[in-house]
Amino acid sequence: SQAAPGPYNKLTIDLEAIAHNLRALRTIMPKGLRVAGTVKSDGYGHGMVAVARKLKEAGAEFLAVAHAAEGAVLRREGLAGQILLLLGLHPSEMTQAARLRLTPVLFDLETMAALSDVATGLGLRAQCHLKVDTGMGRLGVRPEDALELLRAARALRGLEVRGLTSHLATGGSADRAMADEQAAVFGQLLAAARAEGFDLPDSSLCNSGGAMDPPAAAPGPPHVVRLGIALYGGLPDPAMAGRLDLRGAMGLASQLIAVRPARRGQPVSYGCTWRADCDTWLGVVPLGYGDGYPRAASNNGFMLVHGQRAPIVGRVCMNLTVLDLGGFDPLPQVGDEVVALGGQGADEITCDELASWCQTISYEIVCRLGAANPRIHE
Ligand code: PLP
Repeated sequence: SQAAPGPYNKLTIDLEAIAHNLRALRTIMPKGLRVAGTVKSDGYGHGMVAVARKLKEAGAEFLAVAHAAEGAVLRREGLAGQILLLLGLHPSEMTQAARLRLTPVLFDLETMAALSDVATGLGLRAQCHLKVDTGMGRLGVRPEDALELLRAARALRGLEVRGLTSHLATGGSADRAMADEQAAVFGQLLAAARAEGFDLPDSSLCNSGGAMDPPAAAPGPPHVVRLGIALYGGLPDPAMAGRLDLRGAMGLASQLIAVRPARRGQPVSYGCTWRADCDTWLGVVPLGYGDGYPRAASNNGFMLVHGQRAPIVGRVCMNLTVLDLGGFDPLPQVGDEVVALGGQGADEITCDELASWCQTISYEIVCRLGAANPRIHE
């Protein structure tokens, strides 16, 4: 774990892959669309500050995090420009947000008024976005209430509303109708607001899925796209595989700490959920769910050894996983590299593939691995 990492596991972050992914995404986005690099949850486990620096260097116009505390770290590290706070604003975050010129995404007039007051008291004018719920059913005012809120916010001297935001519930999935509907509602609202003289230049709707497969009537330039998973090389939806040359930025390598013969019928790991169906060899890897590796990969996934896939046999433990090395010639040795995520030889285990073995999404895989292991940025 992060507290006192062992000597075997190496979590690497390829920052160039993230810059490459941003460039690749730009090639399929309309020119002039601006990008908010989403670096919340410690940069989806990749390291918030390092990723933010790389994204800004590669031309991302904005950054987006969840909380003011994350924004404060980014400011302290010298990151300039608009930083969106996607989860609104807790009362305790008001002064910090105003002083550091962070841009919360707000969804009620009370918070807007409170932020305006705090900013006015500091001799500042704060900025915010107004979140509209066009169908995600999570945060945001109802579209029919948004104009009235904008009008009320106009009277707040200490606050400027820079944009409307909304979030796609099905961005990038095969079900296009929902995203199309959300984009239509968002577009109509923006048009109505503009007709009343609201500028809202930094409005944003699309995430990675919406950028890679834009809904009809997706807001065009100079609007903002909030990109997350695709920057890290994950797919918004598995069906998008091969759509774009995205490179996985996170790699996880370990090594064999034991290679042992197993007799036919020998059980492996807790619960004896796997038994050798013939004499074989087992390889033991010091990596488990305590290191963020998903237990759901038990009896259900692979790791790479000698560039070849070795099946995970038995349950993944807190700090150990067992591989069946039966098909290997020559037999791997203690100390040989094992790749749990990323490439080895000609093969690669992507975060989406690992997620698919575990009935989860790549987002969760990278967040957990990144939180549980020290990172080596390359
Ligand atoms: N915008 C908001 C409000 C989000 O919550 C997220 C991700 O959770 C994103 C943008 C980025 O989405 P994605 O990682 O799918 O590109």
